[in-house]
Amino acid sequence: MKIINSIIAMQALAIAPERGERRIVFVPTMGYLHEGHASLLREGRKRGEVLVLSIFVNPIQFGVHEDLDRYPRDLENDCRIAAECGVDIVFIPTAAEMYPPAFQTGVTVRDLALPLCGARRPGHFDGVATVVTKLFNIVRPDVALFGCKDYQQLAVIRRMTSDLNLPIEIVGMPIVREADGLAMSSRNAYLSPHERQSALCLIRAIRKARELFTTGERSVAVLLHEARAVIEKEPAAVIDYVEIRDGELLNELEVADSGTLLAVAVKIGQTRLIDNTVFGEEL
Ligand code: AMP
Repeated sequence: MKIINSIIAMQALAIAPERGERRIVFVPTMGYLHEGHASLLREGRKRGEVLVLSIFVNPIQFGVHEDLDRYPRDLENDCRIAAECGVDIVFIPTAAEMYPPAFQTGVTVRDLALPLCGARRPGHFDGVATVVTKLFNIVRPDVALFGCKDYQQLAVIRRMTSDLNLPIEIVGMPIVREADGLAMSSRNAYLSPHERQSALCLIRAIRKARELFTTGERSVAVLLHEARAVIEKEPAAVIDYVEIRDGELLNELEVADSGTLLAVAVKIGQTRLIDNTVFGEEL
């Protein structure tokens, strides 16, 4: 497994004639890898000859009062997991090289980036779309894998890839959960043991809404009311949003159906957690 820090070196490998017909498969991450990331890497391993993992905590997708400075890092463990998953290249650029002082270009996806996390984290998806575009141009993948855990991010990246005619297949992967249902996230490391228990209110709310949907409830107002009530019972939880939207365009709805998205963002103490489910699909 090769570790590459320089943009030029990574790009040189990607565009080298020796690459030949070998397909490059790409999994971009912010590191502090867990089983969710590993599931993307294992699937990626099957989809091409050269598996590239990037680890980059992208400063421009963090708001001023967010957790950029304390975002968890453990490169040694990340490399161990990467090696186990059969990664060929770990690309770890520096922020200074990704964003030199003269940098002034951004990629904006309009409507899809407005609701949900986009409304609570202004500029977040511009930061995501910009860094993913840069990474795509550096790594030159044929296939890139992203988790449905970040549902809106995946929607934004699919739109951007299509709109900009990028010749890259985007693969969405299911949410990997802990045994008790908590969606895996690098940010779970912030949670105290007590907060870790409180964090289960997200999956409880999702299960409640799914149960109601399964028994025939289709009213978005009712489903939202019930999901919110579950979270409101948890004293340590503060709802950022609980929303039901069309699973493709993320438009608001009054009636839920198969393919409809329920997305939640909840603060547990200082830690903001997100989770989601699509009605009619497996949890
Ligand atoms: P991050 O390092 O949090 O930026 O995540 C990197 C990639 O891993 C993104 O495509 C995420 O959606 C994906 N990912 C993160 N957590 C999970 C999870 N629990 N299950 C599946 N994919 C995940």
